[in-house]
Amino acid sequence: MIPGTILMEGPNEVDPGIMGDDLQHMDADGANRRIRARFLIGADGKTGYTRKKYLEPKGIKLQQASQQVCFATAYEETWVAVNWKITPPTPESHPSFPLWKLDYSPTQVFDLFFPSDFRFLCNPERPSVCGRFGLPEDKLWRFEFVVKRNEDGTEMSGPEKLREVVHPYITHPGERYGLPKDIEFPNDCIETLRSRPFAFSARSCNKWALGRVVLCGDSAHVFPPFGGQGIASGFRDASALAWRFAVCCRPGFTNYTDILSGWYSERKQQFENGSFMTESNPVKMYFRDWYLWFLQLIPSQIHKLEMGARRYGMISYDYAPGMTFLPAYGGGLCFP
Ligand SMILES: Cc1cc2nc3c(=O)[nH]c(=O)nc-3n(C[C@H](O)[C@H](O)[C@H](O)COP(=O)(O)OP(=O)(O)OC[C@H]3O[C@@H](n4cnc5c(N)ncnc54)[C@H](O)[C@@H]3O)c2cc1C
Repeated sequence: MIPGTILMEGPNEVDPGIMGDDLQHMDADGANRRIRARFLIGADGKTGYTRKKYLEPKGIKLQQASQQVCFATAYEETWVAVNWKITPPTPESHPSFPLWKLDYSPTQVFDLFFPSDFRFLCNPERPSVCGRFGLPEDKLWRFEFVVKRNEDGTEMSGPEKLREVVHPYITHPGERYGLPKDIEFPNDCIETLRSRPFAFSARSCNKWALGRVVLCGDSAHVFPPFGGQGIASGFRDASALAWRFAVCCRPGFTNYTDILSGWYSERKQQFENGSFMTESNPVKMYFRDWYLWFLQLIPSQIHKLEMGARRYGMISYDYAPGMTFLPAYGGGLCFP
């Protein structure tokens, strides 16, 4: 936290009179308090209390990607997000589980069916992601899949549909182990902690700051959360904001409107909405898959694939008013 900042942990209600120096808020216990602050940062997530209660009436809107220059394409889909807690089977609990005959241990079985790396399942029928999360000893696993236009998100979150969609991924062909029958991970070793639909969209506010009120993280923009875009963007917002606030909070500094608009112009240039991984156009998929297949044959290209956008070096920006460089004097160029 920047020295001198106050973290108002929720739920808080902020009085709309926040344009003055005094900020009135009701804390979680219902007590009314006044705080004197130069700036208010609404880092209150997608539901965006600060944005809705205060900034939306003043013209700040969370707009769809298609209305924003910062996104390459629109994205508006429902996904089901499932969290499972896994209790690996043991020879005692599941004596007939076929892998015991091949000397697999319960831990090895868990690792086989729920690998530790995060996976993007570029299945054109149903793009999905899955991977472990939380503490290793808790053995938590998440699976998220897209709900098609003709399907109902709530129905798709139910046990019957989960079986249809998720279980093929935890059923291994028997031939992989030299066994005659396919092997399904035992259903009674899976506890569903949460299964519900979420709207994943690419949206961004037209402005992320108005006066001395600033929106940061999901309250300013939401992405389909592929490639860590959700949380990483929030961290980038905060780190790009921190030094600017150090300037804005200097005694007598008044030009915060420019500095804050420069901040969100810069941040909006870093968005990418993950469309590469959720492509369903068969022609584009065909080229994507073959392109990636060829690249992974060339060792130097594998490294580049792993680097992702980092292989292009530091991010360079197109100048916009309020940005902290002078393009006329070569500012904004990266050294090779
Ligand atoms: C199902 C799902 C899967 C996701 N998977 C990924 C992923 O794999 N990778 C990724 O990078 N991102 C993922 N995301 C997105 C990621 O969760 C968000 O981008 C990220 O949490 C945004 O951080 P934030 O701090 O802006 O908002 P949040 O994490 O939403 O935090 C906002 C905080 O503000 C608090 N708050 C709200 N109102 C008030 C109030 N009035 N007063 C005080 N406090 C308040 C809330 O309680 C909350 O603690 C996923 C999201 C969902 C829904």
